Amino acid sequence: HAKEKGRNNYQFFKDEMNTRTAERLAIEGYLRDALERNEFILHYQPKVNLETGMITGAEALLRWLHPEWGLVMPERFVQIAEDSGLIIPIGRWVLREACMQAKRWEETGLRLDSIAVNISAVEFRLKDFANSVYTILNETGLNPQRLQLEITESILMRDVESSITILHQLKTIGVKLVIDDFGTGCSSVNYLHQFSIDTLKIAPAFVQEIGHDNGNNGVIVSAVIAMGASLKQHVTAEGVEKWEQLAFLKVQHCEEGQGYFFSRPIVAEQFAQLLVTGLSDRNRVS
Ligand code: C2E
Ligand code: MG
Ligand code: MG
Ligand code: MG
Repeated sequence: HAKEKGRNNYQFFKDEMNTRTAERLAIEGYLRDALERNEFILHYQPKVNLETGMITGAEALLRWLHPEWGLVMPERFVQIAEDSGLIIPIGRWVLREACMQAKRWEETGLRLDSIAVNISAVEFRLKDFANSVYTILNETGLNPQRLQLEITESILMRDVESSITILHQLKTIGVKLVIDDFGTGCSSVNYLHQFSIDTLKIAPAFVQEIGHDNGNNGVIVSAVIAMGASLKQHVTAEGVEKWEQLAFLKVQHCEEGQGYFFSRPIVAEQFAQLLVTGLSDRNRVS
């Protein structure tokens, strides 16, 4: 019996693996043509000043509008794009599109402090990455100060020495640097200083612990806010979903928040509308 069961488990595992490999291959195949077919779009999620309730910036989030599958979220294809190298042309498209959009908004009088773009490990380690950022800024005419590059803590920690070099190249251009998912990658305070980072973005997992006695009940959030204040770095709390979380963040003087509580990521036209009308009063907790 045990032997039989073992074989069934193995068979199940094998089928599962084959299905996943097939799905990966299908996604990779379609991804190759997705840029040419214009199937990518960006959604924008507001970053909110917690003191004033004003929208200060937007994070550009990539979506793939597949003709048969519909809207495909980054979790399903970004890794595959990284493994195949396709993330390089896709990432360039994201950067150019986001900069162009920010510039367009600016020209219609909708000025944002910043537009944020997520950078994958593969792009970050490219020899000419800083150059291509510089080129895109020149082409689109966006002020480098208005571009935030979001890089996860774990990417930076993979090779600290080269990270410091790359971050300094980017700093020279004048763009702003954000550590994404901060608190999940174990960087030491010493590195934070050397990285010349502008903003720490607290990972949603820590924000979600606020108000839960069983978790750390916001102590990590408070610690990061305090550290940001001492190191003169901006702090953004990510994944704000509940009023209680917002209230806690405000008491702790967290500067900025982002999350479903304010708005889900939305298309450019909707975002422009939101910039005009502002967030609803419900969100402006005083
Ligand atoms: P991220 O950069 O940490 O982005 C935040 C993710 O959290 C987004 O998911 C966003 O929609 C989601 N989110 C925002 N507010 C809330 C909230 O209140 N609750 C919850 N549960 N989630 C919230 P999304 O758009 O699915 O993106 C997932 C990840 O995919 C991103 O994580 C980023 O690592 C990656 N990604 C997205 N766009 C790009 C891109 O253009 N290039 C690269 N390389 N990666 C991207
Ligand atoms: Mg991000
Ligand atoms: Mg994040
Ligand atoms: Mg993430």
